[in-house]
Amino acid sequence: MKVLANDGIAQSGQVKLEDNGFTVVTETVAQENLINEINEKEYEVLLVRSATKVRQDIIDSCPSLKMIGRGGVGMDNIDVAYAREKGINVFNTPAASSLAVAELVTAQLFSLARSVYDSERQMPVNGKDNFKGLKKQYGKGIELRGKTLGIIGFGRIGQYTAKYALGLGMNVIAYDPFMEKATIPVDVANQTVNIEITTSSLDTLLSASDFISLHVPMPADGKALISTAEFDKMKEGVRIVNAARGGVIDEDALIKALESGKVNSVALDVFVNEPTPREDLLNNKKIALTPHIGAATVEAQDRIGTELADNIINFYNK
Ligand code: NAD
Repeated sequence: MKVLANDGIAQSGQVKLEDNGFTVVTETVAQENLINEINEKEYEVLLVRSATKVRQDIIDSCPSLKMIGRGGVGMDNIDVAYAREKGINVFNTPAASSLAVAELVTAQLFSLARSVYDSERQMPVNGKDNFKGLKKQYGKGIELRGKTLGIIGFGRIGQYTAKYALGLGMNVIAYDPFMEKATIPVDVANQTVNIEITTSSLDTLLSASDFISLHVPMPADGKALISTAEFDKMKEGVRIVNAARGGVIDEDALIKALESGKVNSVALDVFVNEPTPREDLLNNKKIALTPHIGAATVEAQDRIGTELADNIINFYNK
């Protein structure tokens, strides 16, 4: 059985598949050559992350395909319903990277609190000539302990983020229209303390939060969840992290809210125009930037690889 892992697969997954008799090819085939390559080599399984698109043309033209696996969460690059209609097994690995995203969010909460991201840009350029000036400029940070983190979208990643924030001594409030409450297990010194969080309204969250982190899917209507009206309801000087999807925050409204000082600073891991984000976001002094690496830790990639392999092996062993 042949597996094409077109956007790569962690070695853990590749080895597991090969040990179970699968041939795994990890060389990326260009989008326009995919149909030919799949047909020529008769691949039965196509594994992708977010780069490769699996649209109707591939599904219609490649009769050998039995499975399409997405390493990670969002499946917007796959025509899932259409593929399933055609009898193809489509699956993803939604839980494998939640912890990794939550850790990046936590790192960015610290970074925003102390403007670490911006200080790191300035030190190599001005650190020698203007050390005292920079010390004054960046010496007005705040602490996370005792601050309120508002989590919008209280699913897997939202709850992992809550776990870290509670461990740091933050107050956590959450908004999720599809969830009334959740129990967050906080692990401290080999003990687990279960903390129940009842979700609040969006307005309560917006007005009460010192920090806000977004963990929602892209709304089906494509409309940003956070725009001018929502920024207006936030605390003056709020700090925001978006590691969900680019369009969840309206980027024009965000720039205005940063300019007015309503939003102190923001950390973005995701952008509307990936992989070519707007330059005015990239050059904004108040934005901490990462190139969509939320899920990309060695450990998460291993978990994703293993989960992909397990799914394929189970499917063929049925
Ligand atoms: P999840 O499905 O477990 O949780 C999403 C939660 O959002 C659900 O509880 C749902 O009820 C809630 N929700 C839906 N619509 C909402 C709305 N309008 N307002 C508030 N809550 C709403 O998903 P997850 O695994 O936690 O992933 C969350 C987001 O993180 C997704 O957008 C995903 O694409 C993104 N993600 C990013 C990275 C990265 O690398 N930055 C990696 C993985 C996932």
